[in-house]
Amino acid sequence: MWSIFNLFKSKKPVKKQLTEEQLEIIKLEIQTINKKCEAIADSKSKDSRDRHEKENSTCPKCKATQTIDKFKRTKGAISGRFSGTSGLFGGSSYGSIYGELDTLEVNQCRICGNEWKKTKPFYWSMREIRTDHLNVLRRLLKDYKEARECKFDKSNLEEIYKSREEKVEAFLKQIEDSYCKKETIQIWEGFHIETIKELMKSEEEYAQIKWEENYDEGTLLSLGLCKFN
Ligand SMILES: [Zn+2]
Repeated sequence: MWSIFNLFKSKKPVKKQLTEEQLEIIKLEIQTINKKCEAIADSKSKDSRDRHEKENSTCPKCKATQTIDKFKRTKGAISGRFSGTSGLFGGSSYGSIYGELDTLEVNQCRICGNEWKKTKPFYWSMREIRTDHLNVLRRLLKDYKEARECKFDKSNLEEIYKSREEKVEAFLKQIEDSYCKKETIQIWEGFHIETIKELMKSEEEYAQIKWEENYDEGTLLSLGLCKFN
């Protein structure tokens, strides 16, 4: 029987539904990816913490490793009670502000008395690492697209290539040697394109480079990703 729904059906492009089994694989792959990104986040955070610990505990002047933690007042900073508008908070604020605004955390050397600013380590989350790597992949796909579609203009005196073919080849060579490609393979090799699509979907609205616009199955397969039949 004809119904209004048939009309919609016929106009929509046929999109293959994923099977239960495939969905299960995607789910497991996302878990594996998350674990991988978590390990990277932990290792980067640890490196940062170690580096800062060393910087904070070694006097840059005499290299002694006996230090004291100190808080120092900074000149002209706001402290105590106040009311009114404050540019710092982007509107009106009332009450008290203490802490970081009026103090500077410093390390002091027990041996020579030298003081230097305490630095704080940076901690990465699994999500941040995953987002970064999705962005690197978007960037890489865009680079490939730009290389394939590059314009060649013989009459342009600034053109350094002899032909379009030579230009495309040079661009592709640059991509081959790039950090983006190395990073991409390291993280995404062996996973299904459908899994990456799922992850891309969850962050698409914040992405500066659009995944759909630069999507190219052949490129992704050449990077070591795979696809359901
Ligand atoms: Zn010292």
